[in-house]
Amino acid sequence: MLQPMSASRDPVRRHPSADLRILLVEPDPREAERVATGAHALPSARCRVRTVPDLVAARVALREAGWDAVVLSLALRDLSPLEALAQLHACAPRLPIIAVESDAGEELESTVIAAGAHAVLICGEYSSRALVRTVRQAIERAQIFEELEAARKAARHLATHDPLTGIANRLLLEDRLEHALAGAHRSGETIAVLMLDLDGFKGINDDYGHATGDEVLRCVAGRLAKQVRQSDTIARLGGDEFALVLTNLQRETDPARVARKLLAALSQPITVAGERFQTDASIGIAVQPRDGSEGGELLRNADLAMYAAKREGGSQYRFHSPEMNASARERLRIEGRLAQGLARGEFLLLFQPQVDLSSRRVIGVEALLRWNDPLTGLRPPAAFLAVAEETGQIAEIGAWVLQTACCEARRWREAVAGPFHIAVNVSARQIRRLGFERIVEEALAESGLTPAQLTLEISESALVDVEGTSLRTLGALDEQGIRLSLDDFGCGGTALADLKRLRFHELKIDGAFVAGLPDDPGDVTITSAILTLARGLGVDVVAEGIETQEQLTFLEAVGCTRGQGFLFAAPLPREAFATLLGTPTLEPWLEKARRTD
Ligand code: C2E
Ligand code: MG
Ligand code: MG
Repeated sequence: MLQPMSASRDPVRRHPSADLRILLVEPDPREAERVATGAHALPSARCRVRTVPDLVAARVALREAGWDAVVLSLALRDLSPLEALAQLHACAPRLPIIAVESDAGEELESTVIAAGAHAVLICGEYSSRALVRTVRQAIERAQIFEELEAARKAARHLATHDPLTGIANRLLLEDRLEHALAGAHRSGETIAVLMLDLDGFKGINDDYGHATGDEVLRCVAGRLAKQVRQSDTIARLGGDEFALVLTNLQRETDPARVARKLLAALSQPITVAGERFQTDASIGIAVQPRDGSEGGELLRNADLAMYAAKREGGSQYRFHSPEMNASARERLRIEGRLAQGLARGEFLLLFQPQVDLSSRRVIGVEALLRWNDPLTGLRPPAAFLAVAEETGQIAEIGAWVLQTACCEARRWREAVAGPFHIAVNVSARQIRRLGFERIVEEALAESGLTPAQLTLEISESALVDVEGTSLRTLGALDEQGIRLSLDDFGCGGTALADLKRLRFHELKIDGAFVAGLPDDPGDVTITSAILTLARGLGVDVVAEGIETQEQLTFLEAVGCTRGQGFLFAAPLPREAFATLLGTPTLEPWLEKARRTD
């Protein structure tokens, strides 16, 4: 850290006429006497000179504090001038040294200066006044050097350290990594790079302000730094992203052990300004040489592993694997092609009927997105939604889905005798974006659908990301009379309190549970429990993924009234769905399914 120049540092920045204490190392007693007496006699200088005959006595004298300079005769017995200088410098590294030579040629003078003397005087020739002047100049030069050195040190520190936390920055980390790799190539030791990113830190900044966020980051840096060895490097790369270089690892399991220690250190809440914060993290690990032999490659691969850990829920570490590179390349390719998708009209919707189980009538339809990828053909959402969400492209795509689905539903509404609604899937990221309510309003206005004819399906797993503004948005949509459905229910672990607070109108039992009916006791228990819960909350239930007559029979028996699945119809193109709507009930489809079983 940059230190202010302290007035009490040694040597002191002195007033030019302040008292001087000089130690004179002079083997010749007469010369010593001449200099000391002359100096003491100077009226203006207030200069005290203590004389000692050799370096042994000088060393003893220098144990006292308060010396301003040492004047060293280079004519010491048994010691060459350079040896004498070196020994004196070693015991008083910060004091200015003035060398006294019997006959200084220019060459010797520069050698002596290069060896650490601040000035050179000629023995027997210098006056006391010249001595005092030279000492003062030497002190000043030494002070300037010292300040310059301190400023250089501070500048070096600033260029290589993170100003917020005081730990290394990216520059220093990369430098240390290069050094460590060069050493590892020689010695065969193993090095690991760990990339660490806090989970949900953005929320702290957004909700409590940057000052609090900064304090949390400082605390995190302090905790992490305590977990690693002196020889390891920990750096903040920016935001809430940290990186570590671990050197000289003995066992393959060492990086995982460190990662576990880091996670444990962060798992304790951090208190800032009376608020407690939980700062979990995701960690990616790349080990040299397996995951790369160059610094950049190791950092990139640790980053990929970190994202994998985050995608899988965070608060864990992951080692890098070659598949991660392949999937990262694939994601980049998808991202590039996806960007053109809307403009080129490559998206389309399929429609799957939702059925009243007792009457077999179509009561609604779920719109399911497909992308006609020019390279690979028709792709399901699982192949591109995550990329669209990460890049933010989901906002535009989602708006298109809403518009298109509502317009289609408007046309079909007349064909259905009873109530009819369209269900549109929305991601947490869509809801979080400002203006989502307006997009929904526009879709309704343009299509002429009433709010009650639109259901927004939000996957339960996305609920963890729904907070703050998103909660208000969902509340406002509910106020408008739009139905909210909790999709894939049973997989995300929603707290009961959230269920009540969010006022969902419908729960969709995830197809994974329906698949095990009626034989799997676990699926039977979960399905029955969801139905009981929904009855208690007064919300509708739709069973997803009904594929067999046995599943349908079981669901009807336990009181489930709505469902969708291949047994009734797969997701269909709009024309096929329109034809299906023309039939009064879905019995014929069921019959067909029974016959082909
Ligand atoms: P979801 O909303 O739970 O949709 C149900 C998924 O189950 C659909 O997969 C559907 O094709 C499939 N399915 C329907 N009946 C059956 C069946 O009987 N058996 C089996 N095994 N599967 C069945 P799909 O179309 O691949 O969609 C997957 C997920 O992608 C959806 O799950 C939804 O979460 C998401 N998604 C689809 N369209 C959109 C969209 O426009 N926006 C957003 N944000 N997400 C979407
Ligand atoms: Mg859905
Ligand atoms: Mg679902």
